Amino acid sequence: MTDPEQPVDPRLGLRIVDHDPQNLEHLARPLTAAMPQWDRDRYWPMPDGNNFPLNQGNKPECTGYGTAHELALGPVQILGMTPSYAHARYLRNVQEDRKMGRRFTGGATVAATMRAAKKDGLITGYVWNLGLSDTLDALTNVGPVCLGTTWRSDMFQPDGDGRLRCTGSDAGGHFWVLAARVRNHPKFGAGCWMVQTWGPRWGVGVKELNLTSGCAFVVDDDLHELLAAHGESVIMRDFYEPPQRAPFHAIRGARTFHRAAHATVRRDQEFGSFAEAIGSGLRPCAICQPTET
Ligand SMILES: [Zn+2]
Repeated sequence: MTDPEQPVDPRLGLRIVDHDPQNLEHLARPLTAAMPQWDRDRYWPMPDGNNFPLNQGNKPECTGYGTAHELALGPVQILGMTPSYAHARYLRNVQEDRKMGRRFTGGATVAATMRAAKKDGLITGYVWNLGLSDTLDALTNVGPVCLGTTWRSDMFQPDGDGRLRCTGSDAGGHFWVLAARVRNHPKFGAGCWMVQTWGPRWGVGVKELNLTSGCAFVVDDDLHELLAAHGESVIMRDFYEPPQRAPFHAIRGARTFHRAAHATVRRDQEFGSFAEAIGSGLRPCAICQPTET
């Protein structure tokens, strides 16, 4: 019989069941509520170069490697993310946990990871998303999202087409990064692409993320469940800029979409491309006549 708190895989960390109470002092919601939130597909790509995805090996260093991935992914791509950089981040995260009186082997907490990144000047701050809707708003409008959740036994390999099935028994805790929001994937429906830190032989490629492997798709229902089960969700930024406008937009519930030039009453949904707008079942507006280019 293994202790349920002990991870069954050396790449996972301890499951930290309780949120750090300080999380609640820095929430994403007041920032997202202060500006319009677009509902659109969004990809935060990796920089060019073939060293991604990084590989944490058989070590519980996901917080270090995940941090390196987050920093590398857009909208601000920080270059020079290497395994040794990721390892050094992990050691700093452990150090922060120890300063907070958390002594354990194998992994580090999400709170320590954020605190270390801020103290070291890598980020100006961080805010916590409470649940699925905060997480999706942040991913769509601000940037990649860092998660600390239970890792379940069926999550060690995605399906051949990249879908991650979030079922099975609790295997431990894992720090991982969401890098894209897809509202209507043709096979899986609404969900997100995550980038794993288990090297190039895991997962599938997503060309919009500039990755030829390392990715898996998590549907909204699964993400909701993981977050509801003491999952943590945080974004490494404490200020939000107005989101960049996409070339096409629509009022939620309408049947037509418009060009940026056609001012409609509301701009609830945005589309990064003509194909995306058509793909969501909308028709081009007869007045402003959106076209492919
Ligand atoms: Zn129009």
